[in-house]
Amino acid sequence: MASTSASPGALLRHVRTGRARSRADLVALTGASRNTVSARVDQLIAARLLEEGGRGWSTGGRPPTLLRFNSEAGCVLAVDLGVTSVDVAVTDLSARILATVGHPIDIGDGPEIVLAEVDRLAQLVLAQAGHAPADVCAVGVGVPGPVEFSTGRPSHPPIMPGWHDYPIPGAFGRYECPVYVDNDVNVMALGEMGIAGSVQDVLVVKVGTGIGCGVIVDGRVYRGAQGSAGDIGHIYVQPADGRTVLCRCGNENCLEAIAGGGALLRDAVDAGLPVASTRDVVELAAQGDGPALELVRDAGRTIGTVLAALVNFFNPHRIVMTGGVAQAGAPLLAGIREAVYRRSMPLAARALEITVSDAPELSGRIGAALMAIEGYLDEESVVETLAR
Ligand SMILES: [Zn+2]
Repeated sequence: MASTSASPGALLRHVRTGRARSRADLVALTGASRNTVSARVDQLIAARLLEEGGRGWSTGGRPPTLLRFNSEAGCVLAVDLGVTSVDVAVTDLSARILATVGHPIDIGDGPEIVLAEVDRLAQLVLAQAGHAPADVCAVGVGVPGPVEFSTGRPSHPPIMPGWHDYPIPGAFGRYECPVYVDNDVNVMALGEMGIAGSVQDVLVVKVGTGIGCGVIVDGRVYRGAQGSAGDIGHIYVQPADGRTVLCRCGNENCLEAIAGGGALLRDAVDAGLPVASTRDVVELAAQGDGPALELVRDAGRTIGTVLAALVNFFNPHRIVMTGGVAQAGAPLLAGIREAVYRRSMPLAARALEITVSDAPELSGRIGAALMAIEGYLDEESVVETLAR
């Protein structure tokens, strides 16, 4: 797989992702001259982003000096902002958590109060990790609502009163570094990739009160023209029983109005189940309660019909389910698989994996860290870093 770019950022990415382990590998991968590659590698070593270590196998002559990414060249701040709590972490440049702290908040208190608390927690974890503010290379923030990615401003977030158009990056001015803000689903999607530099195509579907989808193309978040890609909660579906349900967006029969967490609770109450929250329904299903199981499986089938269309269109390697309703596990997956395998084209479905997230608590923080790291180490940013 020859790449056309031999920019310092592209060379760094090849080493980070394990595609190249020596200058000779980089020459072979990029097609650039030996001199060009060597000069850029020397720059990256001077900036401490790459380091030399050990010798590789010789294919005749002197064995090559191996290169590796120095994930300790700096740190990033990762903020996973929820409706009732926030988690702040400091990670190294491979998203390894060095220190983390969680704290209850009320997102409805508005941006000034909540972000002042985040600022306090960030200084606390930085000190715990033994880092100074000047070590912070980038900040990544996930929030529970739509965000204009280019400006880091929430856009009419339904469950974040007072946050519309608020410039979140400004709250991290003391670090004098880039700040990346995105919605929690995109951030969790990155976190589910788990490792920097994955090249898979993945859909991460969060089923909570609402339903959203993080679209990962070639290991990177795909955001679309305005940043709203993956907003699958308002795709039209036809309920099996032919009823019409009004969605909070004003349209009828949206996926989330039929199969989201709120819908699951409504249908369970209508069926006379002793439940007061979506979590109660999920727990009843986990205990094997027949009617609760059937409701969760039905929700899975409805979600599966939409996912089947997405599979035909996008042909992902994997679909990962996350969010409160995904905690139901097996019955939800059974409904989803049934619909996806019945309605997807065989070629797209053949090797498709559909799983439940195994670390939903962690993916928000890891994803926020990866978003910050990817931003800091993208090709243009690396050129700027080397110029400094
Ligand atoms: Zn809707």
